[in-house]
Amino acid sequence: MTDAAPELLKAVSGRLQRYIATDKTLGPLAWAIRDGKADYQTVNRYAIRLGELLSKALRREISADNLPDGKMYYNIAERVLGPLLEGNHRMVADAAEAAQNAMNKAAGIGLKAVRPDLNKSRVQGLVEKVSSYETYAEAEWVTQEPVVNFTQSVVDDAIRENVAAQAEAGLRPIVTRIPEAGCCQWCADLAGEYAYPVDRDVYRRHENCRCLVIYDPGKGRLQNAHTKVLYAEAARKDRNARIARVLEIERGLRG
Ligand SMILES: [Zn+2]
Repeated sequence: MTDAAPELLKAVSGRLQRYIATDKTLGPLAWAIRDGKADYQTVNRYAIRLGELLSKALRREISADNLPDGKMYYNIAERVLGPLLEGNHRMVADAAEAAQNAMNKAAGIGLKAVRPDLNKSRVQGLVEKVSSYETYAEAEWVTQEPVVNFTQSVVDDAIRENVAAQAEAGLRPIVTRIPEAGCCQWCADLAGEYAYPVDRDVYRRHENCRCLVIYDPGKGRLQNAHTKVLYAEAARKDRNARIARVLEIERGLRG
């Protein structure tokens, strides 16, 4: 029996590279990152798009027809999905690192960006999940939304690690979680601004969650006694007011 994995990996990577080279959404985001003009909002959008392109390439190139017994065996998933997820991690980690370094520089912070490690247990979890089904028809969903979710989570990891490093260096980082329009109650409750140490839930996302976690080191740098008072006041306001304020921030960032 011929080994399907090398051909499949080559086909999906090739298609992904073509998508990346021509995608009208990804291009401008990649240029902003390259030019040192990206914030975490940009890096999030870049990661989401890259995740979407990989899931599209997987759907186009892998089907029950080109898998032995119409099944995604573990040893194929490990050598096809594994390296592809690693590739997305590398690209998003590069983007987050470049953006964080540019923002540090702009804020006059002499710290080097922390690069997030590959979350091997998440990759392993997806490889196990996709190979746990009897047929690829049942398994294919694992190569779709969870791939986007994984790719965006690299940004969350980058922020979590840089925020920790900056807090240790004596800065007072503030992380903002922006809800997507029509998000669920769990996400609506999490929307807002958080001073370090940030609750781990702020970095969590369920399936199909496109809420954005962002961090601007310039903001942490500028925080002083006055902003602390504002922060305490904001914390006392009711939940709806907080959400409205965050939506306003999002509109401002979009415009
Ligand atoms: Zn959400």
